[in-house]
Amino acid sequence: MRILSPITEAKLHCKNVSLFISKYINSMYSISQTHPSKIFNFCPKCGHNNYSFDGTNGFNCASCKFRFYINAASAVAVIVKLPDKRIILTKRKFEPRAGTFDLPGGFVNTMERVEDTVKREILEELGIEVTNPKFLASFPNEYVFRNISYFTCDMAFVCEVNNVDNMKAADDVAEAILINPCDIDFNTISFPSIVNILKEYLKVRIVT
Ligand SMILES: [Zn+2]
Repeated sequence: MRILSPITEAKLHCKNVSLFISKYINSMYSISQTHPSKIFNFCPKCGHNNYSFDGTNGFNCASCKFRFYINAASAVAVIVKLPDKRIILTKRKFEPRAGTFDLPGGFVNTMERVEDTVKREILEELGIEVTNPKFLASFPNEYVFRNISYFTCDMAFVCEVNNVDNMKAADDVAEAILINPCDIDFNTISFPSIVNILKEYLKVRIVT
């Protein structure tokens, strides 16, 4: 076995990681008809139409050199767990994917802590208070709203509650149900990121 110096090993590791990341981005990042590059045709600063998408994270204006980034928006999805191991699923009231089941959660507000988003969204959507959210995993999603894609990083948290006696569906939630996670039909779930989060939870829930 060939022995490499720590520096060479570190360089190889970095190269492999960066190759993996770029392959991953390319594999998931097919340009849809609702991608911002199909919608934004003019520079928002100078109005020139020489405004183009760079293929990864942003737009460049060849006229005034303005650069605009479309980084992933932070969002939370929360697994609210009862003592009997059931969790809460919410039925989406509005598009996109109205009528499908989701995890409670939503977008992180500007200048808001993710931990506070968890508490705010659970209170807004279900009328219950949660404390001490524990991070589980994150998965990317393409969220199409009114014909434009928002790329999100959906961060999953697990919260435990003793009861849901005061739970009341509100905001953009049509209905809230309690379900054993083993009984979830993934065909009824709203987004691939939420399916991935639920599968991850099923894998690790014994130790959460
Ligand atoms: Zn410009």
